[in-house]
Amino acid sequence: MSEIFKIDATSGKARRGFLYTPHGSVNTPVFMPVATKGTIKTIPSWDFKKLRIEMIISNAFHIYVRPGIDVIKKFGGIHEFIKFYGSIFTDSGGFQMSNEDFYAGIRENGIIFREPVSGNKLLYTPELSAEIQNSIGSDIAMSLDYVLPYGKSKRRMYEAVKLTTRWSKIFREKRSGIAFGIVQGGTFRDLREISASEITDIDFEGFAVGGLSMGEPKDVMMDILGYTLDLMPEKKPRYFMGLGSPLDIIEGVLMGIDIFDSVFPTRNARHGLALTWKGPINLRKNVLKENFGKLDDECSCMTCNNYNISYIHHLFKENEILGLYLLTLHNIYFMMDLMEKIRESIEKNTLNSLHEKLKEVYGKNGNKQ
Ligand SMILES: [Zn+2]
Repeated sequence: MSEIFKIDATSGKARRGFLYTPHGSVNTPVFMPVATKGTIKTIPSWDFKKLRIEMIISNAFHIYVRPGIDVIKKFGGIHEFIKFYGSIFTDSGGFQMSNEDFYAGIRENGIIFREPVSGNKLLYTPELSAEIQNSIGSDIAMSLDYVLPYGKSKRRMYEAVKLTTRWSKIFREKRSGIAFGIVQGGTFRDLREISASEITDIDFEGFAVGGLSMGEPKDVMMDILGYTLDLMPEKKPRYFMGLGSPLDIIEGVLMGIDIFDSVFPTRNARHGLALTWKGPINLRKNVLKENFGKLDDECSCMTCNNYNISYIHHLFKENEILGLYLLTLHNIYFMMDLMEKIRESIEKNTLNSLHEKLKEVYGKNGNKQ
């Protein structure tokens, strides 16, 4: 594989760059809205362009279960299925191990899942995960890893590291396009070192830090995240899965992360929480009934350009579906604005003042998910 990543500017550990995939170039640091089952909940793909979405993330395991790869193949791939022709990242499905509805055991050669539709047991191997991601036409595929929750013994974490390395080698061999490896090791620094050295030895185009945000305290997570990032090759893109609040994202960028994804903006929107440049706003609050102002003075999204707070508040009070769409649209637009500002700030070396601004408005209770 040729180089897929170019760093254009740096500021401390933060990097501003471009990621090249078969479906175009992506500005980094990038935030990927989550489309697990082939949809960013409530948003049709004709809105993606206006929202400046360059890359989304879907889930290979979910797509495999339903509608199944035969259906996707008949469409000619996942881009035609979704009708989105930008870059599509796919998660391997390994993370579903943490979902008790699916997880049914572990073997040397793969994970045993209970299929949510049929209830049948399925051995999910790195070979199968690569085959799914190849055949649906994923632009960037995540390798299959072994994920354990926080609090497991060091011996079990070590086993997970070793199995992840073994699966990663098989995955790399079977995956025909761009693939990212995942560094495991829980909260143990020495295990992180072993995993980082073994995984970055494999010829992946990029690397992710896995096995965090699994129930450990936030300060422990940030500490291990920073430690692990420093063990990863500087010239390759770095991805951290599941970090999504505005403050978490800028702190991740400051540590050297290039790629983010999270349900944070979309899930919060469906609960009536707007992300704005003055901090989060809960649209269900009764005091907003006669607030005829704009949701966010600094936002130019279609929601902010057309409606005032009072109307959106009314939609949420009445549980009207339009409210979910309008607020999801705004929150994604906000995230894309945020990423643009972050990229500009790296170029101008003003990341710290943007960090201070976000701390002020998202520091106290803006990290709710
Ligand atoms: Zn807006």
